[in-house]
Amino acid sequence: MIDRAEAVVLRSQNLGETSRIVHVFSRQHGLVKLVARGARRPKSRFGAAFDSGTLVQAVFYRSRASDLHTVSEASISWRPSCRDHSLERTRAIAAGLEIPLRAAAPETPILALYRNLCCFIQGIDTSVEEDHPGLLLDFALHSLKNLGYHPVLDRCISCHRAIRDRSSGFSLQSGGLACHRCGKLHRDLAAISVNQTRWLAGWPWDKPCPLQRIENLRLVSVLLSFLNCQLPDRVKLRCFRLL
Ligand SMILES: [Zn+2]
Repeated sequence: MIDRAEAVVLRSQNLGETSRIVHVFSRQHGLVKLVARGARRPKSRFGAAFDSGTLVQAVFYRSRASDLHTVSEASISWRPSCRDHSLERTRAIAAGLEIPLRAAAPETPILALYRNLCCFIQGIDTSVEEDHPGLLLDFALHSLKNLGYHPVLDRCISCHRAIRDRSSGFSLQSGGLACHRCGKLHRDLAAISVNQTRWLAGWPWDKPCPLQRIENLRLVSVLLSFLNCQLPDRVKLRCFRLL
């Protein structure tokens, strides 16, 4: 059966001498695994369509026997500009792309996550380096919501009292803030500052993240560590540890 997908390329792996296995997150089917035969030949018809972070339109033959489908056509709708290959940008994009790659269920469409992902890769491409941690943090928070993990941010995860600025930390197992009274009930708290608590408790903000770069990176690490607690060992997130 022939199928079509509008998709973001998450990862490409070499297969044999000339082919590639490509993991994409698509609007129509969610996370899909494709094989692009001959994609590494010099004059391949696929060109650079399967570079990470590229937005493609793909036509593929759906396999009945496996979850690996064969691409027949792919054209680029949008690709990251090549003006800056800084390590920081590359790492932020890698950490972002890994979220749907590891945490999304195969072939289950989540339109909100697809839109969120498109905004993230295009936003990070046009922004300056100091804004990348804030964009990644916003993407991570929206992704948790899109994937059905709902961290508790506006009230204490134990006693449900409102939290405004003081907390004992974020519980990585339970996925929420613990108030300063309930901190002793949790043994898995990641420490976060008053500024970070205040920002999380008021999220979603409609303006750019006001936190410092290093505070954003710390929150990304806390939230993705929470996501890792929910994921089985074989699909744990790794890239955010390099930020
Ligand atoms: Zn409490």
